[in-house]
Amino acid sequence: PPTCAGMRAVRSLLAFIFLFSMCTSCLYFIYVAPGIANTYFFMVQAQGIMLRDNVRTIGHMIRLYTNKNTTLNGTDYPDGSNSSEYIAQPTTYLPDNFTYAPNLPCPEKLPSMNGPIDVNMSEILMEDIELKFSKHMDIQFGGHWKPKDCKPRWKVAILIPFRNRHEHLPILFKHLLPLLQRQRLQFGFYVIEQTGTQPFNRAMLFNVGFKEALRDLDWDCVIFHDVDHIPENDRNYYGCGNMPRHFAAKLDKYMYILPYSEFFGGVSGLTVEQFRKINGFPNAFWGWGGEDDDLWNRVHYAGFNVSRPEGDIGKYKSIPHHHRGEVQFLGRYKLLRYSKERQHLDGLNNLNYSPEITLSSLYKNISVNLTPELAPISDY
Ligand code: UDP
Ligand code: MN
Repeated sequence: PPTCAGMRAVRSLLAFIFLFSMCTSCLYFIYVAPGIANTYFFMVQAQGIMLRDNVRTIGHMIRLYTNKNTTLNGTDYPDGSNSSEYIAQPTTYLPDNFTYAPNLPCPEKLPSMNGPIDVNMSEILMEDIELKFSKHMDIQFGGHWKPKDCKPRWKVAILIPFRNRHEHLPILFKHLLPLLQRQRLQFGFYVIEQTGTQPFNRAMLFNVGFKEALRDLDWDCVIFHDVDHIPENDRNYYGCGNMPRHFAAKLDKYMYILPYSEFFGGVSGLTVEQFRKINGFPNAFWGWGGEDDDLWNRVHYAGFNVSRPEGDIGKYKSIPHHHRGEVQFLGRYKLLRYSKERQHLDGLNNLNYSPEITLSSLYKNISVNLTPELAPISDY
């Protein structure tokens, strides 16, 4: 009977709607909700930290005003665990009339490094930036430069992991190129672009970039730089040191607070030697999250500590963006439990790839199609 057929149609429609909503909510909980939860927990934590700091500052002020015998002078914060944050930078930077000598190493605290810089994140065309810098700022085709009035202290390769963020690239170059020139570092830019359909693998791109950059030149310092992080202070010196360095200590998107003390994301740098010793980044982190924490573990298992710029020198602005079609890497927690066991099985030493290389005026583009088969790992 027709009513029966109608009923059946309605029932299957209902079943379809039910299944459809089940699927979408499942996908929501897998891909979207963890990110929102992370952000939420961080905000709560950050507010707690700020509250605690305020209470400490207010308590300190009250003590200053009430205790007549105090010897403090208003810039010391004796009971703060991170008191160094409040102390102003000593101005040991060289004076403007400092004279350079081509046969002497460039100093680290140059007069051209003035501190806070203006960040302008409005969209610009890559062509305009390319024209401006290759013409007027003496950048060699392919993105190389070195100072002429002194011997650069570091030869720095800047590696940028990349996929589908074309509007960010010119903004980064616009700020970073003049900063590096003011710091009188020798540098070269490498954009490592992931092709293919796999989830984004930031860490594996860095490993590829490291190997490719060293075929060009004997770099001694390598900087791992997100495309959307713009430094806000030109005293954030992009050279390396005797310890791996975390440059992006204070991000505007995290209210300029280090989200957790093991945070190693955004912009970090190691000497070539240090990076080899830790066997590079892990290759097994597909999608968003965890690879920077694994690098932190590797650095510490290798006996290093991480240094960070003091105070506000490590401030960065991040270009706002969405995570359209990018997935969280849910396997990260499990992998992070075995950082130590995996360190010498997965990294620079098990990586295969075939890059496609093109040069443009400000950088070398290395395109690679990444798949898990390129970094086979034996059981651990
Ligand atoms: N990235 C990219 N395309 C992507 C995902 C990531 O180019 O689809 C690069 C880019 O350099 C970016 C970095 O990887 O700055 C870190 O990823 P993302 O910005 O998504 O991380 P988040 O800012 O959310 O921590
Ligand atoms: Mn980002």
